[in-house]
Parts: sequence; C-alpha cells; structure tokens
Amino acid sequence: MWTPDGWEISFRRQVNDWEITRVADFLNTIGQFKGTQEGEDEFWWQGTDRGTFRVGKAYRWLNSHNQQNVNRPWKTIWKVNIPYKVSCFFWLLSKEAVLTQDNLMEKGIILCSRCVFCREQAETVRHLFLHCKITCHLWRLFINLKGFSWTIPGKVTEALQSWEEAGVLARSRSRWRIIPASIWWTILKERNSRCFENIENSIEQIKSNCILILCFWCNQIRSNDLVSIIDVLDSL
Ligand SMILES: [Zn+2]
Repeated sequence: MWTPDGWEISFRRQVNDWEITRVADFLNTIGQFKGTQEGEDEFWWQGTDRGTFRVGKAYRWLNSHNQQNVNRPWKTIWKVNIPYKVSCFFWLLSKEAVLTQDNLMEKGIILCSRCVFCREQAETVRHLFLHCKITCHLWRLFINLKGFSWTIPGKVTEALQSWEEAGVLARSRSRWRIIPASIWWTILKERNSRCFENIENSIEQIKSNCILILCFWCNQIRSNDLVSIIDVLDSL
C-alpha cells in the first residue's frame, strides 16, 4: 500500500537469497512513484489527454496494439449493402467463430465431424466456406463470369482481402463486395437445411439460390425476373 510517507510493503513469505536482486529491482521500480496530489479520487483513462473514455479512441488503440486487426478487411464487411443479420454472420465468419462442427468440438461438444456437402472432410470453417467442392462451385461461378483466375486463400480474412483486390477490375465495386456474402449465406442456409430439415438441393439449385440472393441484395429484383438477373450479372 502507498502512503504519503512511502510504500508499506509486507511479503507473504520470507524472501530467498536468490530473490533479493529481484526484490531490489521491484522496490526501485515502485520507488519512482512520487505519490498523488491532493484531490478527490477519480477514474482516469490513459487513452486520452483528458482521461475520458472514448469508444473511437479505444478502438484505434486496440487496433494499434493488435496486429491481427490491422489487415482485417472491415470495409468489406460492414460497408456492404446486405441485411444487418447477414453482416453479423459475415463478421463472425471473418473471425472464424461461426458454430461449425470444429468450433462446437472446441466448446466440448463431442461430434464425429463430417462435412455435410462432400462427406469427405471434417467440417471446419475454412473447409465449409472456402474449400469444399460445393463452395468452390459458387466461387467459380463468379470467377468464370469475369474470366480471371483466382486461387482461394487459406483463411476467411485473406479470401475477403483477395476478393477485394480482384474487385479492382469489377464494373461495380459495391456489388462485387456482396458476392462473398451471398456465397456464404447460401452455403449456411443449405448446410442448415441439410442438417436440420433433411432437405438437400442440387448443385444447380444451390447456384441458382446464390444468384437470386445476390440479385435481391442488389435491389434489382423482387422475383425470378430473368432480365434483371442478367442485368445484375452484367454489371459485376
Ligand atoms: Zn465438404
């Protein structure tokens, strides 16, 4: 405890010989504390000059201290014109925190993990949303449309970053950013349909669902209007 007369320190046990240097260093460190000035105690946040907590400042402080966050493509998540609940799912997916079987097993739930699409590999976030052959069909659908080659990265955030860079060639950047969300939302819905309702759509139907979701979020169509679908795909 610190008092105006200095530190009052008591150790819970005797200090060993080999610990004396460390205790001396410790006392030297805390001895540099010159005490508080007179006045009422108050909360003081060191992130600003005035000591007042600011969410924006805290966010920037966290980003500057967490290298993992720096390259996280937030703009491609929260600035995308999709329903809010999909944005939340999108955000969880970028953190690879959605409740796929690998994450459920980490929480202690015992499962025999198997991808519900290919039934060949364990269901992990990266397999289900990036590399499963059914998901690859959806990626290729749009890649082939633009006629360029794209290697699917190993992580969700890398995929978003890479997709954003590939979007430089897109006619509409804002629509291009909707594509990963439409693919992942389609995969999630199909996965849940197979797991919980025992309903399995064909790959052609899954592709069709993905395009319809994309068009719907692009606010182009309210129904299966073929002309509008072609317009949306042309505009990418
Ligand atoms: Zn699979």
